[in-house]
Amino acid sequence: MPSKIKASERCKNLKSPIRDVVYLAKEVQKTGKKIYFFNIGDPNKFDFDTPEHMKEALKKSVESHNYYSESEGDEELIEAIVYEENKKNNISITNEDVIITNGISEGLHFLLNAIIEPGRGDEILLPGPTYPVYLQATEFAGGIPVTYKLDEERNWEIDVDDLRRKINVKTKLICIINPNNPTGSVTNKKIIKEILDTAAEFEIPVVSDEIYDKLIFDDIEYRNVASLANNVPVIILNGFSKNYLAPGWRCGYIYFYDENNELKEIKEAIKAQARQRLSACTPIMKACVKAFEDKYHLYEANKKLKERANFAYKKLNQIPNISTKKPSGAYYIFPKINLNGIWKSDEEFVKDVLINTGIVFVHGSGFDPIYGKDHFRSVILPPISLMEEAFNKLENFMKEKVRR
Ligand code: PLP
Repeated sequence: MPSKIKASERCKNLKSPIRDVVYLAKEVQKTGKKIYFFNIGDPNKFDFDTPEHMKEALKKSVESHNYYSESEGDEELIEAIVYEENKKNNISITNEDVIITNGISEGLHFLLNAIIEPGRGDEILLPGPTYPVYLQATEFAGGIPVTYKLDEERNWEIDVDDLRRKINVKTKLICIINPNNPTGSVTNKKIIKEILDTAAEFEIPVVSDEIYDKLIFDDIEYRNVASLANNVPVIILNGFSKNYLAPGWRCGYIYFYDENNELKEIKEAIKAQARQRLSACTPIMKACVKAFEDKYHLYEANKKLKERANFAYKKLNQIPNISTKKPSGAYYIFPKINLNGIWKSDEEFVKDVLINTGIVFVHGSGFDPIYGKDHFRSVILPPISLMEEAFNKLENFMKEKVRR
């Protein structure tokens, strides 16, 4: 009997391209096919692991830190974050500027809910392509995601003219993801300055997601957005999932760099939401205090990522109808497909690849229907031998398709 109890439209419309594809992958797996899960940016599913000193710290912290923390976050961790961010970026934030969240994901929802007034037509400017949660969370909060172009021809550099053209009175926030997911591109200082100048002119705050800021394996100068801000209020998102190889710990943070206190209400609105969910996970926060003490794992991680990015770049470019730029940071590569009349869309391509080869990619239009179209995303996290095995299957599949 059909149920009269209906879910809300906004929940029914929620999509997770990176995870939704797993349902089909599980079906294909049942047929006995080997599945290559190249869809999720989780290093620990491959040969990476959370640093030992953090795991040891967690074992100790569960002995005695199993209470609710302050809603804004554990004070000791806030202090460690303030010290780390100030030192790394030569900025001066204080404890009051930081809120710890259950991953950036929670912080992003808090931020968008704090800024967007549903029904008012508020627009959030996002990179195109973008990490899909930004698109979904903006709509869920009652806003309209508007994407600005990342120019593939210029190695996915932000097209500041396009960003500027898309600003209007309804624009509430300009978002940057640097290094970018899904393209692996790193935004340089000059472009960040141009964006900050534009934001200053239109009096719009800038949010920068810097969750991959220590995972840059090319020789590129990286600059934190707060360190370049001059009279523009800036919000930074960061966390322990990627740089510290601890995605399952669900620990992230937001901080404000806001010399003139223009974001006072937004900060309060985020703190009010943090109180509603009581606290982030206390033993995890206590263990994260130790994270910054030893960063040796980053050397190893970046070395592997560089080799794997180089391999993926070379190999994918040898496959007919696929071409790609080389990532400089993060965990991903974002190749272009020539659909060649064989597939109707990138989504259909990704499904066909999965069913025939067992490789799980994510369709590009899930990262943006405009600038992600006709692309797909793969992680560059697997060991080269595993990537080689999978990409050889992809190559054979593509050759066969073209021949037919
Ligand atoms: N931001 C970006 C750009 C990401 O790529 C991801 C995960 O892939 C997240 C945020 C999620 O971060 P967290 O694990 O801290 O929720």
